[in-house]
Amino acid sequence: MGIIQLDKFTIDKIAAGEVIERPSSVVKELVENSIDAGSGAITIEIKNGGIDLIRITDNGCGIEKDEVEKAFLRHATSKIKDATDLFDLNYLGFRGEALASICAISKVELITKTAMEMIGVRYVNEGGEIIQHEEIGAPEGTTFIIRDIFFNTPVRKKFLKSPQTEASYISAIVERLALSNPDISFKLIVNGNTKLHTFGNGNLKDVIYNIYGRDIAKNLYEVNFSLEHYSLTGYVGKPAITRGNRNFENYFINGRYVKNSIISKAIEDAYKPFIMQHKYPFTAMLFEIDGNYVDVNVHPSKLEVRFFEGSFLYDEIYKAISSSLTQKNLIPEVSFKN
Ligand code: ADP
Ligand code: MG
Repeated sequence: MGIIQLDKFTIDKIAAGEVIERPSSVVKELVENSIDAGSGAITIEIKNGGIDLIRITDNGCGIEKDEVEKAFLRHATSKIKDATDLFDLNYLGFRGEALASICAISKVELITKTAMEMIGVRYVNEGGEIIQHEEIGAPEGTTFIIRDIFFNTPVRKKFLKSPQTEASYISAIVERLALSNPDISFKLIVNGNTKLHTFGNGNLKDVIYNIYGRDIAKNLYEVNFSLEHYSLTGYVGKPAITRGNRNFENYFINGRYVKNSIISKAIEDAYKPFIMQHKYPFTAMLFEIDGNYVDVNVHPSKLEVRFFEGSFLYDEIYKAISSSLTQKNLIPEVSFKN
């Protein structure tokens, strides 16, 4: 076999695997785009674990008629211009890979309209091939419908889990995005039933209530600090509410859900005096960190971040949580009978 250069469809299918592993990756990428578009309300509808259908509707800025085709090109983005912007990211997306990847492995229908334009666009792309591109009346904002994920990569489709499991991954993604965006109303509809609906009123505690219910929302302490390059707002659970795994530890940096050993260690060390070994606390912490002090650009599908001053940050988080926990625990909640 001689050396050949792969054709565009093959290259795109290979590249898509990096970004789109399963239906929940589609949901993550599209909802992040809706957030970046300045939406106040985002509805996510899925059927059969997202394998048959994912529909995302937002009321964001929409895509201009003449830009629709460009949006599906690999490395096409409206969010950064060059590498200097990478360290001052105001958006969740910036690689310009999601739409190109999604359309390479599924059937995509897009309906979008901007505020400035009189008429909207309907665009259909199946496996990288444009099927339709027409003007259409549409409300302001964007709807993406993704059908038949991995219809042209059967091996990848075979590796998907049951629809219930895929749906649970999607719920987890939507819950994280809702926690990190209390000012956006999220609605998740699974097989016709509303699974989650947040108000979008900016109140993180309300979002926690919507996701985790009353027992958690009633048992929280506030945690916060405000430093020159770092700030934190959020809630930590009372020591009585714990889990046997870290799934309850939610924290976000500049609106992104991340995993980081420094933050996890600070949380767990602060809780050590109060909870049993191998138990993990509930947290929902929103960090805002100056782009010069954190690198979120480590890998497209990984959640890692790197800090410029890790041990300083560890100390501040540890202190903040400890004081939330102790201050309240030292005040005896006993009422004395006399
Ligand atoms: P990225 O998010 O990295 O820019 P994507 O492939 O996810 O790349 O999206 C490409 C472009 O399409 C975006 O930069 C944006 O201009 C546009 N776009 C995608 N989704 C939406 C949306 N829901 N509303 C408005 N514009 C969108
Ligand atoms: Mg994107």
